[in-house]
Amino acid sequence: MGWIKVVGIGPGNLKDMTIRAREALQECDIVIGYITYIKLVKPLIEGKEILSSGMRKEILRCQDALKPALEGKKVCIISSGDAGIYGMAGLMYEVAAKVGVNVDIEVIPGVSAFSSAASILGAPIMHDFAVISLSDHLTPLNLIEERIEYASKGDFVIALYNPKSKERPDNIIKAQKIMIKYKKGETPVGIVKDASREKQSVVITTLNDMLNHDIDMTTVIIIGNEKTYVEKDRMITPRGYIL
Ligand code: SAH
Repeated sequence: MGWIKVVGIGPGNLKDMTIRAREALQECDIVIGYITYIKLVKPLIEGKEILSSGMRKEILRCQDALKPALEGKKVCIISSGDAGIYGMAGLMYEVAAKVGVNVDIEVIPGVSAFSSAASILGAPIMHDFAVISLSDHLTPLNLIEERIEYASKGDFVIALYNPKSKERPDNIIKAQKIMIKYKKGETPVGIVKDASREKQSVVITTLNDMLNHDIDMTTVIIIGNEKTYVEKDRMITPRGYIL
């Protein structure tokens, strides 16, 4: 019987990949994924059939997985971070349902970018938090803005994904303007680029100052809540213990 496993490969470093994810990659016949992610797992998939494709080819990748799986092959579709967080997991189920085939699909979770970035910054997500993607490619901008508004109003720690690309340099500016209506300008902000990858860089700044730093598509930004503080270059959100 063939199968499809949608595998979260973690943020980048092979040490941050789960054992389950490694085993799936070992067991499979075919690996399908975005070129950049295929490169990240290259040492683990020597000798496998590899189907790599570019950005915005997500539907095609899922369609490509179906035929071999129905013919009895074992197929891994890889996704960065956690496959079920802005990843390939949901789409794989949707495509299989649309095509109307009955195929065994399993999702293997991974360490998401926010989780990896938080560990690098210290412990900024110790309390309730919201993850919001600033990509308006599939989501209307007004809905994104509304969610930032509510999360800020609710004093959630906020993790921003897809913060800035060449096509939409302004969404991060809009996001900062909304957040600063509710959160103090001195609120700590952590900017982590390429978390757990070779080029990793980290900045701890404030909500006032965050736009003065380098932010791109491989960056995740974590904005603290009212209680978040910085000590010895670590960003910490207290859980509420009395010490
Ligand atoms: N499934 C992924 C998210 C995919 S969306 C996960 O769970 O992490 C792509 C966005 O994730 C990027 O634009 C960036 O904001 C964030 N991201 C993914 N990997 C990252 C990394 N290693 N360092 C910083 N941000 C990352």
